[in-house]
Amino acid sequence: MKKALAVGFVVLGSMLALPAQAQISAEEIDSLAAETQAQVVEWRRWFHQNPELSNREVETGKRIAEILRDLGYEPQTGIAGNGVVAVLEGGLPGPLIAIRADIDGLPVTEETGLPFASTRTTEFNGQETGVMHACGHDTHMAMALGAAKVLRELQGRLAGSVMFIFQPAEEGPPAGEEGGASLMLDEGIWDEVTPEAVFAIHVGIGQPGGQIAVRPGPMMAAADRWEMTVRGKQTHGARPWDGVDPIVVASQIVLGFQTIASRQVDVTKAPSIISVGRIQGGIRNNVIPDSVELEGTIRSFDPEMRAEIKTRMEKTARLVAESGGAEVDIQIDDGTPPLINNPDLVARMMPTLQRVSAGGKVNTLNPQTVAEDFSEFSNVTPGMMMFLGNAEPGADPTGLPANHSPLFDVYEPNMEVGVRAFVSLVVDYLEQE
Ligand SMILES: [Zn+2]
Ligand SMILES: [Zn+2]
Repeated sequence: MKKALAVGFVVLGSMLALPAQAQISAEEIDSLAAETQAQVVEWRRWFHQNPELSNREVETGKRIAEILRDLGYEPQTGIAGNGVVAVLEGGLPGPLIAIRADIDGLPVTEETGLPFASTRTTEFNGQETGVMHACGHDTHMAMALGAAKVLRELQGRLAGSVMFIFQPAEEGPPAGEEGGASLMLDEGIWDEVTPEAVFAIHVGIGQPGGQIAVRPGPMMAAADRWEMTVRGKQTHGARPWDGVDPIVVASQIVLGFQTIASRQVDVTKAPSIISVGRIQGGIRNNVIPDSVELEGTIRSFDPEMRAEIKTRMEKTARLVAESGGAEVDIQIDDGTPPLINNPDLVARMMPTLQRVSAGGKVNTLNPQTVAEDFSEFSNVTPGMMMFLGNAEPGADPTGLPANHSPLFDVYEPNMEVGVRAFVSLVVDYLEQE
């Protein structure tokens, strides 16, 4: 449901406007990014030391708004919970484009030993846990704020506007709550003006230090959760014909699901995965139970295939259950859509990425079967998410702790690449209009 909020943006006027002439050079962007780097590191360390879980990013949101105000912005706060949005209006007319950073941490107890390591704890799902920016969202915020600082200095010569989106709950809201990118859209951040393009950076995923990687087209999967109950008829384990065995029926359905991905959808078009994460039923060796519960996840990259898999799962579950005399309830949620990088946008921005990426090299990568709700934004307008290597340049990135590990860390000088990337993407995109 839409809130009638329609985020009435206070757009920063161009009171700093310089005479609108000289184009913004790459050298100028690089030197401004270099000047901002120490500040970016300081911001990152604050966020790192003060992580908050999804939909609980109260202090994080406040800190972001405070920094933006110090930079001369007039941020809108409290969007989709603790989200923050700010718009910079350039001195010259032109389109609106957007930069998105996610702001939430994870229920992970940090083990990096960094001097600014998180010591926070909280309760999550009834358990006491540490809280950590184990996915690198601390660096995403710091880089986006670094870009906000640099672009503010270039404001008078920008031919268009930039929206900065600080999005809560990327890792998913707690059970029973709404949140994340879709809620920001529902609350109307793009109702007045939809940006022409939206950009985001994610650190990690085994890329060499300071290098950018991007995949045109489907890059990250749709993630849809499903759950199912198979109902049979309880009986003695020695006399199964007196009842209906839901364990055997559930097993047949599990195997049937595996033939959807391997036999029934076009494997040459896009990969897909159906996983069962939980199967539960019964209480002792010689009692056939009344019912079995299952849940799992579906990963897919193609919107049509995603819909087809759901239809086929429902049919498989229903018909297999019927053949065994059992009944089945299956519920497949609409989760995060696949993240599809707009191929034209990627091609258009490739020279920019090559200029800023370490060693002038932009890598490609295989589709990632994890999901990212940046896809909600890139479903509405052309979007591009890039990965940025978190390793020290020259180090083997494949041996490093992965995102979500208690040892995950980012080599901080790489954030300068991220700031240069954001600023250069904005400047180059607007100048090409
Ligand atoms: Zn994550
Ligand atoms: Zn993440």
